[in-house]
Amino acid sequence: MSRIENIKSFFQQNESNEATGKAPKGVCPNCWGAQEWENEYYKFKKGNNGNYDNNTYDTFIMKVARMLGKIASEGNQYVCETCKMKFEKLPV
Ligand SMILES: [Zn+2]
Repeated sequence: MSRIENIKSFFQQNESNEATGKAPKGVCPNCWGAQEWENEYYKFKKGNNGNYDNNTYDTFIMKVARMLGKIASEGNQYVCETCKMKFEKLPV
């Protein structure tokens, strides 16, 4: 799955109270938590009164994906190029 799809499914699972990890797959959990995207998502929905089309939603998700740092694979770990944090690869 692409990072955009990972972010979308993370929000969807979160919304239906399914267990999610700390961050979407392929996203640095440190940067994800610091930027409070779950809160931004809530505000996005509230701002649109829960009434928005797919284009608006995609634009929001793409903004989220753009703001998140890149991560590089290093052995059995990932390294975030933004905050330099190392974290374990999540099982897919
Ligand atoms: Zn990071």
